[in-house]
Amino acid sequence: MKLYFASGNAHKKEEMARLLGGFELTLPKEEGISFDPIEDGSTFIENALIKARSLYEIVKKPVVADDSGLVCDGLDGAPGIHTARYGCSDGVKLTSAEQYTLLLKELEGKANRKARFVCALVLMLSHDRIYIIEECVEGEIAPSPRGIEGFGYDPVFLVEDTGKTAAELSADQKDEHSHRGRAARKIKMLLEEVTSEKK
Ligand code: IMP
Repeated sequence: MKLYFASGNAHKKEEMARLLGGFELTLPKEEGISFDPIEDGSTFIENALIKARSLYEIVKKPVVADDSGLVCDGLDGAPGIHTARYGCSDGVKLTSAEQYTLLLKELEGKANRKARFVCALVLMLSHDRIYIIEECVEGEIAPSPRGIEGFGYDPVFLVEDTGKTAAELSADQKDEHSHRGRAARKIKMLLEEVTSEKK
């Protein structure tokens, strides 16, 4: 089954393709589809639904949408649903390294460095067949960045029980622990069930 992945993020696609091995994933931009919906939901799930529905309206084929981000207890849940745009404003776009450097600065002097990555995944098969999963991975924000794997905030996120940042884990290790890995394994089970129904 071919699935459209409602994202513009090639790193996320790479992870998701690995996690959903066996199902072909296509980004809208790979088919020349311009896709940049306004993510004005107030939760990860609402934003994942916005992405799924807006891409489904265009392609009318099964869609997977991911909305994810980093929730820091010491910052009252920030950056949360604003993780992708953290520190950015009109005309100012920060690199991932600039974003996690800003996060480290905001946490300076704060005792509570507990954090979690959250991933909401939506599988939209038709207008009335929509599955929603939300998973997270607990951890804390490291004192300074470490590691070169992964993407985004991985170098500053210490994954619970590993003693390593997500950027120090191999792809397989990250998949085992990560918010996206946990959510994608459930979506994969659903996809396997749906495709076996069709046989
Ligand atoms: P979204 O594309 O609107 O869901 O934005 C999510 C943002 O959260 C991305 O820009 C990443 O910076 C960050 N993020 C999500 N998942 C991960 C991850 O697995 N590692 C590092 N950063 C992540």
